[in-house]
Amino acid sequence: MDEFAAIHQKIAEEKSKLFEMAQAIHSNPEVGGQEIFASDLMTGYLEEKGFKVWRGVGGLKTAFMASYGDEGFHVGFCSEYDALPEIGHGCGHNLIGIAGVAAGVALASSLGNLPGRISVIGTPNEENEGGKVDLVRTGVFDDVDAAMMFHPGCSTSINVDSLACRDYRFIFHGRSVHASTEPWEGQNALDGVIQTFNGINALRQYLKDDVRVHGIITEGGLAPNVVPDRAAADFIIRARDSNYLAEVVEKVIACARGAAIATGTILEIKESGYPYDAMVSNRVMADLFEESLKESGYNIDSSYEEGRGSIDMGNVSRVTPSIHPVVAITDQWVPGHTHEFTALCNTAESYDVMLSVGEAMALTGLKILKDKNLQKKIIEEFSAATKKNLK
Ligand SMILES: [Zn+2]
Ligand SMILES: [Zn+2]
Repeated sequence: MDEFAAIHQKIAEEKSKLFEMAQAIHSNPEVGGQEIFASDLMTGYLEEKGFKVWRGVGGLKTAFMASYGDEGFHVGFCSEYDALPEIGHGCGHNLIGIAGVAAGVALASSLGNLPGRISVIGTPNEENEGGKVDLVRTGVFDDVDAAMMFHPGCSTSINVDSLACRDYRFIFHGRSVHASTEPWEGQNALDGVIQTFNGINALRQYLKDDVRVHGIITEGGLAPNVVPDRAAADFIIRARDSNYLAEVVEKVIACARGAAIATGTILEIKESGYPYDAMVSNRVMADLFEESLKESGYNIDSSYEEGRGSIDMGNVSRVTPSIHPVVAITDQWVPGHTHEFTALCNTAESYDVMLSVGEAMALTGLKILKDKNLQKKIIEEFSAATKKNLK
């Protein structure tokens, strides 16, 4: 039996255990940073399969690195396993988590004497804070030569890209007075927020098409008869190009500064959340994955869709050649982050897709480990993209 058949056989052998783990994570949803059950379950299984496990990597208690083999090209499968408050696994991270585990175990079983290191990298807290941003910052991906993961969706798109993204909080400090008896003595912090929105809405006409600026008012005063002395708004600013995003951020901040001057209030600016980089999908890896997904028996109908969201895998793609394909688990449109999507991520059909993807990622890894020329092409494409596109 060749190594490719060995991967197929290993996935078949482990099928019921993999299903069981994905179901267990689905029925024990844990929000970002608290994924103790999921990370224990996955690392315990990986240890049983001969992986060496490091828990708490990157300073995140529910992150892990589980590796098999120790020399040569290093292939990493990223697993996510955090859930949403109240909604549970409405983003399907139970499927992402176990697809990564399946890929690692299947590829390890076929490695034989081939040089190479295979890792399953447990990347927690994707929904809240982008755990991968911390893992990249702390160097967890530094010695990974190629990283891949998948996300379940309603249509299949292999070459997924994304928008770079920054989060800001603008807090206006003014002066409270009675809103009717002596309003002229006040400085209205809420007006600072409102003028910020107006300024940004005027700015939109002069921004490139891929830019998104969206915000909410988080504090707007306490009573209509009191001039608010404090008001605040949260904004997310996105663009495809990180350098252009930096320019847009300056323009948005200028809107808030102008609003503070106009209203006589004092502006406090806080960068909240983590900056996400735009995803740079490695074409060589994406083509290999697409071919492998067909070989795993998944009936692929792939289309390219420009990514309009932001993902923390974007930051990984800046330090390691990476892919983040989206693979359909349904042919209906079901909105993500809903109870409907949560239910969808716990069906036999979705678990079958998870295993096909696990097998396809293992096949992709094997093709890369067997072929030095492919490794070179992957690195060359990454280096060229780094020079051209990355900050
Ligand atoms: Zn999500
Ligand atoms: Zn997700």
